[in-house]
Formats: sequence, structure tokens, C-alpha cells
Amino acid sequence: MNLLDILYPKHCALCDRAVTSREYPVCISCRKELKPIIGPRCMNCSKPIENETEELCLDCRRHHFSYDSGFAVFLYSGKMKDSVLRFKYQGRQEYAQFYGQMMNLFASDYINRWKPDVLMPVPIHREKLVKRGYNQAQVLAETLGGMWGIPVDAKSLKRKRRTRAQKELNPQERKKNLREAFTLNKKVKYDTVVLVDDIYTTGSTVDVLAGLLKENGAKKVYFLTVCIGKGL
Ligand SMILES: [Zn+2]
Ligand SMILES: [Zn+2]
Repeated sequence: MNLLDILYPKHCALCDRAVTSREYPVCISCRKELKPIIGPRCMNCSKPIENETEELCLDCRRHHFSYDSGFAVFLYSGKMKDSVLRFKYQGRQEYAQFYGQMMNLFASDYINRWKPDVLMPVPIHREKLVKRGYNQAQVLAETLGGMWGIPVDAKSLKRKRRTRAQKELNPQERKKNLREAFTLNKKVKYDTVVLVDDIYTTGSTVDVLAGLLKENGAKKVYFLTVCIGKGL
């Protein structure tokens, strides 16, 4: 172990154990447990699908989304779920290195095909930003942008207010509520945007942001996330 490892220990992105720079970003025992999504996936959102004859997951067959398509590396479960939660709420911004390496391995083909002008992190409300000290989606987008040489715009999309308790609302009201929570600086114009976030669950946030970007001239909007919910 060298001095830097003792002074500034880094942590395994899966189990959070302090590791040497040789083992970083994932310790040797956790490497065996890395399980990116493989096998048949939804053509639209990239969720794994059980019935191989289908092209789309049930969610994507039921809804038309405003985004064009997207990609996630892992399922939001087990150690990956814990990892993303620490990345988001416990200051483990360093995990972005690991997520970036995984994106480089699994998402580079998508990026080469999509040829985005810009990466835009899903914004969080200012109050949350102050409390948390960083937007995890922005940390990730900046890591990816640096790695792929793609500009990052973390300013033009804003979350102007927190959404009301979504539970009390019906689906239409929810969508309206969510749509009204975001604004876009109208001066910026991009043809092809990739939205970046830590997780994709129902897809409603990415959907609303894609709609907003397209109303303002974007032709294609894709998403990249570390994890995705299993869905239906
Ligand atoms: Zn580990
Ligand atoms: Zn889908």
C-alpha cells in the first residue's frame, strides 16, 4: 500500500471497502459479482425482457415515450442499488470512475451511433443541490463527457420546483406536474442530446425532459443511465 492510499483511501464502488489504487474502482472479490444486463432487452429503453420474441418491454408497448431510445448498464438491484444510493446520498462521487469505465465498455457503441452534440444531466432542485453538495447526474455526465470528448451542458435544463406528492395524483396530473417542474433555457439549440442520470425507473422524468427539448428544436433525444428498474 502506498502513502496516498493511506492518506486518501479510495473505496470499492460495490462494497465500499477501502481499497488500494491497484484494486480501485472495484475490489477483486466484487469483480466476480459484476453482472451487467445481458440477453434480450427492450429496443426502446433497454430493460431486460423475458419473452425473446418481443422487441419492446410491456412499459414501452403501453406508452409512447418522447425520447428516441436509451441504454442502462445494470439492473437497479442488490449491490448496484446500494452503490447508486451511496453515490447519490453519501458523498461517494468517486464511484463515477467505475460507472464511467462500465459505460465505456458497454455504451460506447450507442454513443458512436447516436453522435450526440451534448450530454445533459437530469437536473435536481437547487435546495437539494445545496443540501447534497452536488448533483450525482452531473458528476456522471462530466466523467462521461471527459472520457468521450463530448460537451456537457449542466446549466440549460433546470428543475424549478419540487414536485408535489405524486401519489395523490392520477397519471395525467402526474405528467403535468412533472412537466411544470422543469425549464429549458430557450437560447440553446441542440440537434441530438443524451440525457444522463443514475437510474431509470418509470422513465417519466427522461420522457418529460425529452419532450421539452424536442419542443425547443431537438431532433433526437436519448438517455444513458447506470441502472434501470426491472419494470413489467
Ligand atoms: Zn468490493
Ligand atoms: Zn422498454
